[in-house]
Amino acid sequence: MAGKILIVGGSVGGLFAAVLLERAGFDVVVTERSVHGLEGRGAGIVAQHEVFDMLREVGIEHVARFGVTAQERIYLDRKGTIIHRQHMPQTQFSWDVLFRTFRDLLPGPRYHLDRRAMEVMPEAGGARVIYADGREEHAELVIGADGIGSVVREAVAGPDSRPRYVGYAIWRGLVPEERVPKIAADQLFERFSFFEMSGSHILGYLVPGADGSIAEGRRRYNWVWYRRFTPAELDEVLTDIDGERRPFSLAPGRVRPEMISVMRADADQLLPPSFAAAVAAESRPFIHAVYDYVPPRMVAGRVALMGDAAFVARPHTAMGVAKAAGDAFALRDAMVSTSDMDKALMAYEAARAPVGANIVAYGQRLGRSLA
Ligand SMILES: Cc1cc2nc3c(=O)[nH]c(=O)nc-3n(C[C@H](O)[C@H](O)[C@H](O)COP(=O)(O)OP(=O)(O)OC[C@H]3O[C@@H](n4cnc5c(N)ncnc54)[C@H](O)[C@@H]3O)c2cc1C
Repeated sequence: MAGKILIVGGSVGGLFAAVLLERAGFDVVVTERSVHGLEGRGAGIVAQHEVFDMLREVGIEHVARFGVTAQERIYLDRKGTIIHRQHMPQTQFSWDVLFRTFRDLLPGPRYHLDRRAMEVMPEAGGARVIYADGREEHAELVIGADGIGSVVREAVAGPDSRPRYVGYAIWRGLVPEERVPKIAADQLFERFSFFEMSGSHILGYLVPGADGSIAEGRRRYNWVWYRRFTPAELDEVLTDIDGERRPFSLAPGRVRPEMISVMRADADQLLPPSFAAAVAAESRPFIHAVYDYVPPRMVAGRVALMGDAAFVARPHTAMGVAKAAGDAFALRDAMVSTSDMDKALMAYEAARAPVGANIVAYGQRLGRSLA
């Protein structure tokens, strides 16, 4: 079985699947909508066993060395006093190093930037992808690895099956560590820190630099502030500097200054001094709304979904990358187990649909106090 496989979406999920399937002898092409590539845009990942399995599988275990370890968890009160501490080492690995390493494993014409898929149409012996530039490509199998706003999803789940906003969003900052004020650095660095309040909480930890560096002075402080927004408030905050309401998130530099001012004023009023200082130090905060999504199916004909295109779980789970890795393994294993592609896709769905649904449910339990 050596038909062409077209993967829509060239982030880590699409790359995991592409590398495994190519090594298994399939003819794989990845198409990614980003014009300039995704390098330098990630932060940290908490690696679960699927990620280590993936690194081992492709012989790049060294990627696991690019981690920043927080030795303990601390919980603060509003005044900044540590009210609870727990020895609990946790390592944040570099998303960027993981991405770059997999990207390098797929050189040349197997990975195309600036290819935004607009529609996927099932057809005899496979499916056709139509791109924004008018190009059309047929493949024996199309894999949707195009994330939360997947366009491939419609061909599998129908037009009305969409992620559901759960009532809160996360403000985020990624501050180069040398720009973090002393009051924040002294209390928050080398730790996983938390402050909880009614209907909201903030947490923060160090992650590798955008170049993957883990050396002191080159890392970044990642803070994540969960806040409730009514649907009307969400419309307002997700309207970008050009006045366009974006569907899920706004990247650094896209949030309107008046929204940032309100968020900073709230931080001054509501957060312990160390966290308020870390928030103020971020010149370009960004925001993601939080969604749940369980698809009615992962496969329809010769179109399959994986990663965040398939199941969207809340960020508390920290399992997005592991889930994508698990999907890629299951898809590869199913595809090599039989020469009947339809049977293989059924086996893939049977293996992964329950896992995805469990992860989404786990995220719902973790987010209960916020929703
Ligand atoms: C730039 C970036 C940085 C990230 N950083 C982190 C991080 O630091 N820590 C973490 O835990 N998670 C991070 N994530 C999220 C994480 O990768 C996912 O939660 C998880 O790994 C699932 O990956 P995925 O490949 O399924 O989806 P995603 O990572 O969301 O990737 C989807 C990809 O599909 C592309 N795409 C979307 N629509 C189309 C289209 N119509 N045509 C073609 N391509 C399309 C997107 O540009 C994107 O590259 C990041 C994602 C991105 C895109």
